[in-house]
Amino acid sequence: MQFTWTKDEEAFRERLKAFLADTLPEDWERFSQHGPASPSLTRYAESFCAALAREDLLTPHWDKDIGGQGLGPWFQTILAEEMWIAGEPRGGQYMNVNWIGPTLITYGTEQQQQRYLPPISEGKALWCQGFSEPGSGSDLASLRTRAELDGNEYVVNGQKIWTSYAGLADTCFLLCRTSDDRKRGITILLVPMDTPGITVRQIPSLIGEGDIHEVFFDDMRVPATARLGEEGQAWEIIAYSLRNERLGIPRYSLARAALDRAVSILQHRGDFTREAVRIEAAEAAALTEAARMASYAIVTRRAEGQVIGQESSSARFATVMCERRVAEFIVEHLPEALADDHPYLKMHHQRGIVAGIAAGAAEIQLNIIASDVLELPREPR
Ligand SMILES: Cc1cc2nc3c(=O)[nH]c(=O)nc-3n(C[C@H](O)[C@H](O)[C@H](O)COP(=O)(O)OP(=O)(O)OC[C@H]3O[C@@H](n4cnc5c(N)ncnc54)[C@H](O)[C@@H]3O)c2cc1C
Repeated sequence: MQFTWTKDEEAFRERLKAFLADTLPEDWERFSQHGPASPSLTRYAESFCAALAREDLLTPHWDKDIGGQGLGPWFQTILAEEMWIAGEPRGGQYMNVNWIGPTLITYGTEQQQQRYLPPISEGKALWCQGFSEPGSGSDLASLRTRAELDGNEYVVNGQKIWTSYAGLADTCFLLCRTSDDRKRGITILLVPMDTPGITVRQIPSLIGEGDIHEVFFDDMRVPATARLGEEGQAWEIIAYSLRNERLGIPRYSLARAALDRAVSILQHRGDFTREAVRIEAAEAAALTEAARMASYAIVTRRAEGQVIGQESSSARFATVMCERRVAEFIVEHLPEALADDHPYLKMHHQRGIVAGIAAGAAEIQLNIIASDVLELPREPR
């Protein structure tokens, strides 16, 4: 199998590289260790994304009439790869352009699109994703945060957990229970984070400051027009959103760049001669390529206009495997990287350690592949 890029795609990648070289501060690699959701990185991401937007590089894959350039999914992939190699300077805004914007485009009312899409395509919005709850992570359909209609308002009570960016976000993409039906009883509300009745509490994290939070809702009221789609439509909508989310995070590109950096450090100091080390590096490199190919297979489907199914879980699982292997290689052969000697490698480690859990646990992807892709029989209960 041989991939070639078109001249336009190659030129686009070069343009991005030049933009990153011109725009990122000199101490970016060290600075980025504050953590992907830290206040300092989030503030930086705001100016970085606004600069991307001014160059038409923030949402090039969106249609022209909603602030994009109408470029295809391969351009989105190239954009995401280059951003990840650089350590994802878009911060939390990667979610907006990958899946929140496209979800609003597909399911939002005209009023919701007019309100939320321009700030996203201008690089001014920060969203958080209120899905997981204590006891409802992998088993998301068991969530209990309740929204009850009172006149033309929803009254929300409950708790979310592990919510990234909640401390600084302007809007929450919130999943609530509106009836007892496990999946068809869940509804999406688009909630401004300054609504009275919301309390955000930070959870200390290894990944850096401000990364994850608990979010409490006490008689919080939002107008019924804050609902995305119909009551009970959340499961269908988030299946669409999560497939976009999984595809839009090409972490394999950062893993590969970190591996190449680690190998070059080892070569430079004469430590890359042992065959066992070289084999380990080759295996890790092969995993990064496997993840890239699994992702490209799905981008190909999307570029051909086919609906992406649960096979995006294969790409995500392959990506988790390569990230873990590269992180293990670095910890084993360059342990000093974790003590600030090599900020780029430490940044990969910070992002890699949560890879198999954030955005859905790796084991759950295997369950999805077994049941929905391979159609393996389930064990009788
Ligand atoms: C850094 C980080 C950021 C996050 N950001 C967000 C966010 O912004 N918004 C949000 O809503 N959530 C967020 N999450 C939460 C994340 O989606 C959940 O942690 C994840 O879905 C797992 O749920 P859980 O923590 O409840 O673990 P559990 O579901 O309890 O799983 C614990 C372990 O059991 C395994 N397991 C559970 N069920 C099965 C099964 N059926 N078969 C096989 N194995 C199983 C899992 O694979 C996992 O290894 C974030 C998590 C992290 C680590």
